[in-house]
Amino acid sequence: MGKKPKAKAEEPEKPPAEPAEPWLCGECEQENPAEELACIACEAPKPVSGDGKFEHFAVALVKTCEPVPGKDKLKKLEVDVGSEELLKIVTNASNVKEGSRVVVAKVGAIIDGEPLKKSVAGSPR
Ligand SMILES: [Zn+2]
Repeated sequence: MGKKPKAKAEEPEKPPAEPAEPWLCGECEQENPAEELACIACEAPKPVSGDGKFEHFAVALVKTCEPVPGKDKLKKLEVDVGSEELLKIVTNASNVKEGSRVVVAKVGAIIDGEPLKKSVAGSPR
């Protein structure tokens, strides 16, 4: 009698059927596999808006501007780039104040919720 091997390796959840396209890092132009959420070369976050094109600059309206404690040249901004949430960025531009319009680089500039360590404030060693 035919013994049927049990299906032991159950397939994990299948990804949705959309084709996984590699994306280009806006920071270093590294091509990254679609499943990577950050650049494999420089760890810049994958662009979330649009279809992965170079959309990483936006004109933003500065909503809040406050100094970063301990970093007198740095300011922490919340800017309105037209999306629902304010974008939090850090800048060392001295002429930025509330109500200013600034050009922000979205990729790599987002510090949302994360400690602003690398790429923004220089590397502490
Ligand atoms: Zn990169």
